Amino acid sequence: MIDWQTIETVLFDMDGTLLDLHYDNYFWMEHLPTFYAHHKGWTEAEAKHWLMEKIKQKYHSLDFYCIDYWEDQLDIDIITLKKEINHMIDFLPHAKNLLKQLTTLPVQTAIVTNAHRRTLAIKDDAIQITQYVDKDFCSHDFHLPKENPDFWPALADAYPFNPATTVLVDDNERVLASAATFGIRQLIMPLNPDSQRPAQTMQQPDNFIGLHCLSEILPNNQLSD
Ligand SMILES: [Mg+2]
Repeated sequence: MIDWQTIETVLFDMDGTLLDLHYDNYFWMEHLPTFYAHHKGWTEAEAKHWLMEKIKQKYHSLDFYCIDYWEDQLDIDIITLKKEINHMIDFLPHAKNLLKQLTTLPVQTAIVTNAHRRTLAIKDDAIQITQYVDKDFCSHDFHLPKENPDFWPALADAYPFNPATTVLVDDNERVLASAATFGIRQLIMPLNPDSQRPAQTMQQPDNFIGLHCLSEILPNNQLSD
């Protein structure tokens, strides 16, 4: 699927690509609504509905990913709440193995995430994910979400890479479409971002490579984690 000998840079999304999105989905759809219902004296159904409507309005914007924004909007301590379930933070199958194998190849690797720096810090405390890559970038650093095509030239200014020899792995198809405008040639979309949910479907299967498991792109065939 990937000719690793021709690749110089590998850019990884974090949540739903290297890490199980179950943690994030559970937080926003279960843990936070339960807390917020108690906090407001609402039923859980009321809290869920109210939060989902508010969150939906921010889809694909930087605010959607911004912990400062949500703490301000909801007037609660999101970080403390997130830490309450940090035992649920985990790699997706073969993610750690893939990252380890890439350290043996002459490629530069980076995490490029829409997650807020404070969320990345919680995940790094839990499973030390950044130790497996050369660099990590949060889109907040550039004041643009990855869905915005202007994000990619801004990233390339901070972290030079040749789009023709770069692989991007990201479970968000809008992000892949945005990266395509910058000429990133190999665009790969994990189809099982959440271990507890059915696979997602691609809107443009001709444009991107769908991946059921990261084991499909291991540089060598050692499957053990
Ligand atoms: Mg993702």
